[in-house]
Amino acid sequence: MLIKTGIPTNEDIKEIVPSKERRGKGPVAIIECFQEIPCNPCYTACKFGAIKEFENINQRPIIDFQLCTGCGQCLTKCPGLAIFIIDESYSDTEALVQIPYEFLPLPKEGIFVTGLNREGKPICRAKVVKVKQGKGENKTSVITLKVPIEYSMEVRFLNIEDYFSDNTIICRCEGITLGEIKNLIKEGYETIDEIKRISRVGMGPCQGRTCRHLLLQEIAKETGQNMKNMPMSTFRPPIKPINIGIIAGGEDDE
Ligand code: SF4
Ligand code: SF4
Repeated sequence: MLIKTGIPTNEDIKEIVPSKERRGKGPVAIIECFQEIPCNPCYTACKFGAIKEFENINQRPIIDFQLCTGCGQCLTKCPGLAIFIIDESYSDTEALVQIPYEFLPLPKEGIFVTGLNREGKPICRAKVVKVKQGKGENKTSVITLKVPIEYSMEVRFLNIEDYFSDNTIICRCEGITLGEIKNLIKEGYETIDEIKRISRVGMGPCQGRTCRHLLLQEIAKETGQNMKNMPMSTFRPPIKPINIGIIAGGEDDE
């Protein structure tokens, strides 16, 4: 399931969760990095030796929960946004969940939002208690949510629509706002491909990686359709941004 959907199974999660006793002692990092990829900034970021030295660059991180202080340095350095800090010592009934966040605008401290699980399903109300904006080269912001303690190991995102406005940028590459998308839907453009062709949404360097799901979600909401039955746009190679020099250089094709 993980390979096909990107959503870890309960068995995957069991492997990486610290004991309830450790979670109750204070903040701790939960590293939801399930595939072997050439990446190790989490290891180099940790100054407490909690993430063991990698034997090779493709190794999955191994964390010693007893050494982890929950400082959050690894969370902001992880390019995969795969690290969360959980603090179940906050109170008997509520826990704090720090999530890496790369959308704009950032939510305001003090507002209530819907907490989403790893599948993007709403599971509880959550309060935004802290917003730490990413700075410098590292633009990953950190949002701290207060959630019912029983959901601390489930809430992994928040419903960004809870604080969207018409000025919110949906397509960052082309600078298309939610208001512009809504107007196009009102004019009768009701598929991703139609909106893409008339507005260029999803045609920038990221090729719609961030905006296509938001766009589909918005069309579904405005037209009363079910997202599952709606056509996604057509994807053509290259499927990720690459340097033009790579194409120009090429390789012999046997
Ligand atoms: S939260 Fe801090 S101490 Fe824990 S693994 Fe990450 S960097 Fe290390
Ligand atoms: S930095 Fe993130 S993606 Fe990279 S190995 Fe560590 S947890 Fe995995």
